[in-house]
Amino acid sequence: MGERVVVIGAGMAGLWTALALAPTGREVLLLDRDPPPPDGGPDEAFETWARRGVGHLRHSHAFLARLRLLVRDQHPALLQALLDAGCRELRFEDALTTLHKARFTPDPMDEDLVILTSRRTTLELVIRRYVERLPGVTLRPETFVRELAIEAGAPPRVTGVQLADGETITADLVVDAAGRTSSAAEQLAAAGAAIPETGERAGVIYFTRHYRLRPGATEPVRGGAPSTGDLGYLKFGVFPGDNGCFSVTLCVPEIEEELRKAVTRPDVFDAACGALPGVAAWIEPARADGVSRVFGMGQLESRWRDLAPDGRPAVLGFFPVGDSLVRSNPLYGRGCSFAAVSADLLRQALETSADPAERARLYRCGVERELRPFYDVMRKADRSAIRRARRALAPAGPPSLRSRLMKSFVEDGIAVAVRSDVGLLRASMRGFHMLEDPRLWLRRPGNLVKVLGYWARGRKANAAAYRPRGEPEREAMLRRLGLSPVADAERLRAEAA
Ligand SMILES: Cc1cc2nc3c(=O)[nH]c(=O)nc-3n(C[C@H](O)[C@H](O)[C@H](O)COP(=O)(O)OP(=O)(O)OC[C@H]3O[C@@H](n4cnc5c(N)ncnc54)[C@H](O)[C@@H]3O)c2cc1C
Repeated sequence: MGERVVVIGAGMAGLWTALALAPTGREVLLLDRDPPPPDGGPDEAFETWARRGVGHLRHSHAFLARLRLLVRDQHPALLQALLDAGCRELRFEDALTTLHKARFTPDPMDEDLVILTSRRTTLELVIRRYVERLPGVTLRPETFVRELAIEAGAPPRVTGVQLADGETITADLVVDAAGRTSSAAEQLAAAGAAIPETGERAGVIYFTRHYRLRPGATEPVRGGAPSTGDLGYLKFGVFPGDNGCFSVTLCVPEIEEELRKAVTRPDVFDAACGALPGVAAWIEPARADGVSRVFGMGQLESRWRDLAPDGRPAVLGFFPVGDSLVRSNPLYGRGCSFAAVSADLLRQALETSADPAERARLYRCGVERELRPFYDVMRKADRSAIRRARRALAPAGPPSLRSRLMKSFVEDGIAVAVRSDVGLLRASMRGFHMLEDPRLWLRRPGNLVKVLGYWARGRKANAAAYRPRGEPEREAMLRRLGLSPVADAERLRAEAA
């Protein structure tokens, strides 16, 4: 008989784990504290599915190409079910600028650079119903796991879980897919199996509001003002959704207190969106209605847990997958891909060796190889965004020559080159979508030479490649929303004094 696997949590990572392990003949039991989805379709799930275990359930979600490829290649029937439910594929061609379009010829690679997007409730509903039908998989909702059953040893071994009602379920393997609030690491540390972790604040707060197209209305034509962007004091994005729905997410640096308090109000949120031409086109009253409150989410962190420090497993028979293993800033949209990739790496480790210590080492090694480069790049980008947001409020003297050069290289070199040249857009997107190490494309001499060429041409020659004007600077936006543009700077000065 196959091994018995207990999975704590039936969120994204739990579902990907079931998808990865069911075909291997293992018996998979998913335990989740929350109730099952309601009967009915995507609208019922969005409106009524109570998920206290997933605070971000009603925030914008999209699956990067890496994850969509995994679904397409390993679970084609699931991809079809997602599309049948109204989930959307955003294709590479949809992201082209006018400059790109003038010289675009399709490449087979474009078929891989596709994003899957919809309300997260729809994604989860469809994946869950698909998983429930897999042979060997059982889902037990409304089942709270109180603690791990741990057998002492060096290293200790996890032998099952204990539920809130006192029942103990034994297992050959326990997968922790309980998400960012998992308490397994603390329990293991108390049992002498410390799992080292590093982490830091992402420095932003996420705000999402949902909209629905009015009867007969269509989405704005693509190729106009961008519907995503980073203005330093504010990042924004429109997420096309299923069944005539879409959401807008505004991401505000933690230190922008005035702005982040104000955008929790739907009228202010809409006013901020109205000031961004690429978003305003989506939410204009003749086209769409706001259909939700503004959902906020703070306490966002990056966190990396190391299961086998120095190659020595801290614990046996226990595998964290998803956010309980690695958390990242949602801004980059990589969390669900991380969860699915780690579940797949777990399958590979289990299929390669039956030795518990070797399995832990193999899993750790795969996670380091497949996820670490993306994690490190995201953390670096977060640190630089936090510095940028702080400088916008409290400039610390004129920037150095080096930082001016770096800024110019990024804005007048890389960004312009990627907005001009389809080949460079493709190359950079492969990194963004986790199809290769995100640092590689710019290290390739041919790509670097092209970027330097655009940089050397200067702003005038590249004028058509800059983002269209019209997105307000910080001061103009805050004034437009009736907020003080100096209050946060004064607060920072007072705190420093
Ligand atoms: C605001 C926001 C936006 C995001 N946007 C994106 C995006 O666009 N694209 C993307 O790829 N990622 C995105 N992410 C990240 C992504 O949502 C997470 O990485 C992903 O949900 C992690 O899956 P998980 O299964 O580890 O955790 P979760 O999805 O949080 O699931 C954890 C599950 O465990 C259950 N549980 C917890 N404790 C227990 C217990 N003791 N007993 C039983 N059950 C338990 C919960 O009920 C829940 O079902 C976003 C995250 C946030 C916060």
